[in-house]
Amino acid sequence: MAGASAIRGAGGEDPARRLYARIGTFLIEQRLDPDPANYAFAYHLFVDPNGPLARAVSALTDGGVRLTRRDIESLGCEHKPAPNAKAAAQKADGLVAQTQMQVEGFEDMVTAIRAETQGFGRDLAASAEAMQRSSGGGDITEIARITAAMVERVQTAEARLDSATREASELRKKLEEARDNARRDPLTDLPNRRAFEEAYAAQAATGESLCLAVCDVDHFKSVNDRFGHAVGDRVLKAIAQALSAKCKGHLVARYGGEEFAILFSGTTLENARLMLDTARATVATKHYRLREDDAPLGEVTFSAGVTLAKPEDRFHSLFQRADQLLYAAKTAGRNCLRWD
Ligand code: GH3
Ligand code: MG
Ligand code: MG
Repeated sequence: MAGASAIRGAGGEDPARRLYARIGTFLIEQRLDPDPANYAFAYHLFVDPNGPLARAVSALTDGGVRLTRRDIESLGCEHKPAPNAKAAAQKADGLVAQTQMQVEGFEDMVTAIRAETQGFGRDLAASAEAMQRSSGGGDITEIARITAAMVERVQTAEARLDSATREASELRKKLEEARDNARRDPLTDLPNRRAFEEAYAAQAATGESLCLAVCDVDHFKSVNDRFGHAVGDRVLKAIAQALSAKCKGHLVARYGGEEFAILFSGTTLENARLMLDTARATVATKHYRLREDDAPLGEVTFSAGVTLAKPEDRFHSLFQRADQLLYAAKTAGRNCLRWD
């Protein structure tokens, strides 16, 4: 029963290593090539060892029969490349949410079991003590010994539950980090486009007045061309900091490449424009210098368009209007704003 034993078999303490070892053992036992299709098949098998696929494989491999490629194809779970990055991200999101729910359910279960075992342990300890005190006979001593052994078992179970609870909360922390990373731009540490669009949807639902700005660094290609990409990256970080500082209290995001978007909530178009213009002037008047030899980088500026959301606006129409205003600012000579 090579396959069935591999599905149940363990190996090592680290869950990732254990999963990897099981997949490897299974492929070797089944004499299957470690190609993506077989690997994906084995992966599906071991992430749900009691699921329908695992049961079907156990039934097929019972008695030492090996799987064929055709078995794998007929059982499904073939490896297919992800259709696109967005779909993959959505799937990952779904998985994160699903796992988070599982972890929460698991934690509740552990808490309930712990309460039960604590009560059980206390009762057993009390009765063992009572029996010991009142006994003179050998039978009672034996009962007390058995009871003491049970108490020990309960204590061991409690210790295991403790460590399972710790693992579950660590896992939850990691999931929260993963969720946060998917919405943050690693270069500037600002929220990314996805986080921005989600925040817009949440803000729009409150009915609060909103303004949306789109900023684009002027002639940024030339910064990269003259000083290199690393210097360009540092300029983007400096612009991100200036925008965040001057538009404090509002959502500043890196929307893409050298474009930033800002969602001003609960303020007038005039206020939004003033804040943005202060950020523009701060960036334009700063003396950027090369870290290596202190040589000046020359002027760095951005242009922007900012617009007030109308009741009939959807994200797309609002963004498009801000983008058209940005384009108008570019054609008007750059380093300026246009608003509406
Ligand atoms: P314009 O004033 O019309 O906006 O001119 P531009 O040069 O800024 O516009 P263009 O679209 O021609 O070039 C944008 C450049 O931004 C090209 C691309 O290499 C650069 N860029 C985009 N993302 C990054 C990044 O993360 N780091 C760096 N260093 N450069 C980036
Ligand atoms: Mg651009
Ligand atoms: Mg640009």
